[in-house]
Amino acid sequence: MDTDVLICGAGAAGLTLALDLARRHIPFVLIDQAEVPFAGSRGKGIQPRTLEIFEALDVADRMIATGGRYPAQRHHDAGGGYRDEASVAANPATPAEPYGEPLMLPQHLTEGILRARLAELGHATRYGHALSGFEQDDCAVTARVTTADGEIALRARYLVGADGGRSFVRKTLDIGFPGESLNARAVVADLSLDGLTRDVWHRWGSGGQQISLCPLQGTELFQLQMPIPLTGEFDLSDAGLAAAIAARSGRDDIVVRAVRWRSDYAMSARLADRYRVGRVFIAGDAAHVHPPTGGQGLNTSVQDAWNLGWKLAAVLRGADDALLDTYEAERREVAAGMLGMSTRLLDAARQRDDLRRGREQQQLDLGYPASPLSLDERDDDAALRAGYRAPDAPLTGAGGQPLRLFSLLKSGDWIMLRYEPRDAAALAPRAGLRVITVGEHAELRDHEGHLRTVYGFAPGDIALLRPDGYLAALTHDERSAALSAYIAQSVR
Ligand SMILES: Cc1cc2nc3c(=O)[nH]c(=O)nc-3n(C[C@H](O)[C@H](O)[C@H](O)COP(=O)(O)OP(=O)(O)OC[C@H]3O[C@@H](n4cnc5c(N)ncnc54)[C@H](O)[C@@H]3O)c2cc1C
Repeated sequence: MDTDVLICGAGAAGLTLALDLARRHIPFVLIDQAEVPFAGSRGKGIQPRTLEIFEALDVADRMIATGGRYPAQRHHDAGGGYRDEASVAANPATPAEPYGEPLMLPQHLTEGILRARLAELGHATRYGHALSGFEQDDCAVTARVTTADGEIALRARYLVGADGGRSFVRKTLDIGFPGESLNARAVVADLSLDGLTRDVWHRWGSGGQQISLCPLQGTELFQLQMPIPLTGEFDLSDAGLAAAIAARSGRDDIVVRAVRWRSDYAMSARLADRYRVGRVFIAGDAAHVHPPTGGQGLNTSVQDAWNLGWKLAAVLRGADDALLDTYEAERREVAAGMLGMSTRLLDAARQRDDLRRGREQQQLDLGYPASPLSLDERDDDAALRAGYRAPDAPLTGAGGQPLRLFSLLKSGDWIMLRYEPRDAAALAPRAGLRVITVGEHAELRDHEGHLRTVYGFAPGDIALLRPDGYLAALTHDERSAALSAYIAQSVR
């Protein structure tokens, strides 16, 4: 066997999966058909839930230091006046939700930070490697990869197609990709220009004549976005883009200096029928495409990879193969909801020019309560349920040092929180599971009571956190038989 996991595609999804496998010491090969990394801004919004994931992968602070906040939107009118409004809902950080607003970071910088962290862990993408065919048997996948030096064969236990909307892996598996074309086409470009301030996101016009120029945090560039006619050639040359800016803004003082990247694309909303066929999975845009409204694509792609990484690692270490079926069960439903939401936002943008993003886009309320992995033995009226995102909480070590619950997730382990245990019987230590007691004389102290409040803990309660930061089980130490069976089956 050449490797455990072959990851096809080094975009946001592929890089996230690679980073998760790297920190778990799972052998993998990451290939991309491109000769060099992608250099355009595309998905520039990292939602609060994705920031939490990037924190667990040890890259969030670098991203925050590189990017910046979303500026207000300035709607310019034809008479030279304007109206400002917030672009995003920004809430103060709380003990349970440490990131109150999305971060703006152009996608190529996000991916650059993921690549840098991967390099620190001793891994690199093999660029100029295109997956050109594969077959699977009971034990492995045999892949053909085309390089400048010819074709190579690679045998891996699993293949993950994180190869974007036109996914070769999805098509080879003959997975249906139903959905609709949304009758919308747009231009996106990164450019440097003079004549505009960088403190707001500038917008002009309405309907098909809209244009927006957003200062891209972490760069000196602006991201241009505008709808264009569904058919016919649109002039994407430097001069063509400058002319469109002048015509749609009515301004002759905006001078385009250079265009770094440009693209035009037609919008559609599609969802793959299946996410898994045997030993092959699809993730990210390979599994779902949708309009950019709402800024969900990159985030959903990262979270697909985050959901799949620990499950692949667990099954490679001996967990039941059925664990891998929960990837599709959990993530396909999330993508279906996200597709509906981004399409609704596109309709709103067409009619009302309303592009403000709020709580729904932050992805903090997504979870998997209906998943077979969710074990809930609490009363039905409990506010927090198994399957929900595990909230953060500030704690203190027995030695007095402060820490946050989320810092424990960096280990990639399952975390069992035993709140003021009644039954002192210790669980036998088990690889991949960290058992932590919380209480007045325990290893961790809930000195401000945040953990008790947000988890609704009473003495004897147990919360088992999955490696991806969702609540696997909520129970009590007098009811731990089901929990023991759960752990025996899933924790590796
Ligand atoms: C204008 C615009 C604005 C957007 N705004 C946002 C936003 O604000 N927020 C947000 O979350 N998302 C946004 N998105 C969406 C976001 O860019 C995508 O959802 C995201 O890039 C998907 O990541 P991915 O890793 O799944 O796929 P991709 O980024 O498409 O990566 C796929 C990779 O696979 C490689 N590949 C393909 N075929 C093969 C093969 N046969 N062999 C080897 N490699 C292969 C490709 O070279 C590529 O590098 C926006 C998109 C656009 C176009």
